[in-house]
Amino acid sequence: MARYLDSACKLCRREGLKLFLKGDRCLSTKCAIEKRNFIPGMHGQRRTKVSDYCRQLREKQKMRRIYGVLETQFRKYYRMAERQTGITGENLVKILEQRLDSVVHRLGFAASRAQARILITHGHILVNGRKTDIASYLVRPGETIEVRPKSREIMAIKTAFEVAKRRTLPSWLELDPTNMKGVVRSIPSREEIAIPVEEQLIVALYSK
Ligand code: SF4
Repeated sequence: MARYLDSACKLCRREGLKLFLKGDRCLSTKCAIEKRNFIPGMHGQRRTKVSDYCRQLREKQKMRRIYGVLETQFRKYYRMAERQTGITGENLVKILEQRLDSVVHRLGFAASRAQARILITHGHILVNGRKTDIASYLVRPGETIEVRPKSREIMAIKTAFEVAKRRTLPSWLELDPTNMKGVVRSIPSREEIAIPVEEQLIVALYSK
């Protein structure tokens, strides 16, 4: 499976805002956006004219990077969103939000979506009581997502869970903190998904 292996902070600098890809570090003064908020590379500090196409492309890249999805898979999600009833852009955001790695992160079991992917592929997460090692699995209402009992003492999970207590749990999820177990109450609505993306620009880009 192809993976992005370069610095995650460069992605935030390219988009000019915090994408929160590194858990705790993103909230500290070590965050690269706090220190060097300009585009990485030799010409990063130059001012350039931004065309409509550029804005659309950047919006698409931003969304891909927030969810850690590569281009081919992102296109598949877009096609899936097109086939669904409703507004394509909103459908796309909802599909991405339903990915298991995103839900594991939202429930606070992982500091970032990248860490959630590692936990899932290493078998630390159960869906409906069964081990699921596919990070792209799309959760459905009524399903339970929990940390495997044996894995609850793993330091990375415990730390992430402690830090996540300061975050607000989205209303479409329910959490039983004692058992590190979450339930998907419903498909999220766009208003319940707090990501700084103008999805209509992505639709405009792919509709060309
Ligand atoms: Fe982005 Fe986090 Fe790196 Fe800051 S620390 S630049 S928010 S990944």
